[in-house]
Amino acid sequence: MPELPEVETVVRELRPKLKNKKIKAVRVLMGKMVAMGPATLSNLRKTHPTAHLDFAKALVGQKVGNVSRRAKMIIIDLQGKYAILVHLKMTGQLIYFAKKELAKQIQLFNIEKSPLVHLPNKSTHVIFEFTDGSKLFYNDFRQFGYLKLVTDKELPNVKELQNYGPEPLDKKFTFQVFEKILARRSNAKLKQFLLDPNLIAGIGNIYSDEILFYAKVRPWRTPKTLSPKEKQRLFKGIKMILADAVKHYGSSVGDFIRPSGDWGTYGLIHKVYGRAGEKCKVCGSIIKSMKFNGRTGSFCPVCQK
Ligand SMILES: [Zn+2]
Repeated sequence: MPELPEVETVVRELRPKLKNKKIKAVRVLMGKMVAMGPATLSNLRKTHPTAHLDFAKALVGQKVGNVSRRAKMIIIDLQGKYAILVHLKMTGQLIYFAKKELAKQIQLFNIEKSPLVHLPNKSTHVIFEFTDGSKLFYNDFRQFGYLKLVTDKELPNVKELQNYGPEPLDKKFTFQVFEKILARRSNAKLKQFLLDPNLIAGIGNIYSDEILFYAKVRPWRTPKTLSPKEKQRLFKGIKMILADAVKHYGSSVGDFIRPSGDWGTYGLIHKVYGRAGEKCKVCGSIIKSMKFNGRTGSFCPVCQK
């Protein structure tokens, strides 16, 4: 599932490519993938069954402004009154090809036997066509993601954009802010603490494992047991690991691919995530894993105390 570094990668790659592009046509191949309005998706699907037609109609002739994100929501702002919100959820992919790249073949999954395919293929559900002949494809193998069209006025009322904790890579996320958040959940297991988007935005299973390894603390420790030094390391780990992952274009485990069709390379340097049973890259011990509220956490029993 894409986490902050993967979504940030998508935003950074799409921003210069989409800026000032004018939408010529939108093809919605699977109606349930799109909705209009700020309410939750399930409500919108019930109350607006023709949203896929209206979605496409409203977008023709619109010009793209900025591309940004809040937590894991991608916000494609249009220069008129609309913004397109895209949530990739489990397996969503946004892939952009300039006109001359349209014949390109890419692998949609980061597994050895993933075939080379042309787009659109059977997991393509929405296609944006721009007036310069370039195209943006929304693929979603498991179909949990969505695209939502909202007006700029509706944007502050969008349910999925509310109640998030601070952006960990933001300068405003300081050690003082972090300490306050730790104090709010002094008895939570650190694995669950890091996964809670209401406390800190954008951290999922991959990066919580890697951050805890960096901080040298075991996933079931709680904030109240942390020494001042461990708190500092945990804070530094959040900033360093996420920033480093962005630098490597995220982790292509499973379905994440960059808008260019290339893979992120951070997965190659994971220290613990997905490595249970393998040797620790630092001390040589065998990496262990454990379930935390249904999520698997991997850790080194020697490096992490
Ligand atoms: Zn180790």
